[in-house]
Amino acid sequence: MKITEISSVVLQPFAWVLVKVKTDQGITGIGEAYHGAGVHQIVTDHRMQRTLIGKDPLNVDRCFQDMMRGQSASGYYQGAVMSAISGIEMALWDIKGQAFGAPIWQMLGGKFRDKVRVYNDCHAGDVESPDSYAEKALEVEKKGFDAIKFDIDPLPSRRDAYNRGIRNKDIKYYVDVVTAIRNALHPDTDLAIDAHWAYTPVDILKIAKELEHLDLLWLEDPIPAENVEAMLRVKNSTSTPISTGENFYTRHGFRELIQSQAADIVTPDIAKAGGLLESKRIAELADLYYMPLAPHNICSPIGTYAMMHVCATVPNFLALEFHHLDNELWSNLTQEGPMIVDGHINVPEKPGLGITLDENVVKSSAKEILGFFD
Ligand code: MG
Repeated sequence: MKITEISSVVLQPFAWVLVKVKTDQGITGIGEAYHGAGVHQIVTDHRMQRTLIGKDPLNVDRCFQDMMRGQSASGYYQGAVMSAISGIEMALWDIKGQAFGAPIWQMLGGKFRDKVRVYNDCHAGDVESPDSYAEKALEVEKKGFDAIKFDIDPLPSRRDAYNRGIRNKDIKYYVDVVTAIRNALHPDTDLAIDAHWAYTPVDILKIAKELEHLDLLWLEDPIPAENVEAMLRVKNSTSTPISTGENFYTRHGFRELIQSQAADIVTPDIAKAGGLLESKRIAELADLYYMPLAPHNICSPIGTYAMMHVCATVPNFLALEFHHLDNELWSNLTQEGPMIVDGHINVPEKPGLGITLDENVVKSSAKEILGFFD
């Protein structure tokens, strides 16, 4: 089998980047890359394509390593280039699964579970008060999610200093918000909080310590993630579990974080970090230190379903993110309809990815089409 064509489309309202890989034997694979700027163009750039056209898509890892090592689009493999590579890699797994009549999880080593737990990433309503956060939490919990996440990055009015500093009244505000959410939820519903790299270690530690008795699922990205030593200091200074990793690429990007145990939970974005097999490797590296995996995810049903296959195949899976509760396109994009039931995705038996794109919906929602319908 040979790869004949690689194309992409970027959708709206949310800029999901879908990837299609065609072969000379009539099998087509679908994947999704992280939605970053220019990613869909990199997917279809001839410097990326020439690495793969004519190659056997069944050698998924060889194709992946060729894209990484080749002088693909930038000569390096982070950022938008790695996101593009991740989306293509997913599509290759879809091809391989169809060719062998097996679901992707089966080819990644088999499954540890029949259902993959999904947590819902929430935002408060228009009025940002502790009560409005709690109200939103209850609304989402009623939809069947038993794990929920909220953001506590600073409101615009609290951002003026641009120095990651935070005033005492703001610390109290965020502690009040998180406490209100926690108290509203059922005790067995897990609550995670995302700080979006917005704070200094001393400030976020004041918040983290105040939250310790609330038994959060995790506190995500408490400080900028690139300084692993600073992250280690935060992680070792509070019993609130610390998670990070959505902006790291490949197992190489995770090595120092994991080996120094600078987080309790790792959160790679599978559509960015290197695709399915590379993310399984990251999970395995984390498992050497008994660290759970909770992938970051803002993908469409395509990328989410692809990530589910990895989540099914690793022992240390904790929860997979879901970001699009209020996006109508989420339910319309695939022919199978809603995939999340009671906060879980059932692990499918169908070959390959296991869901079918509704291409008419893709066409009507497309913002830019780079050969996707040829
Ligand atoms: Mg995050």
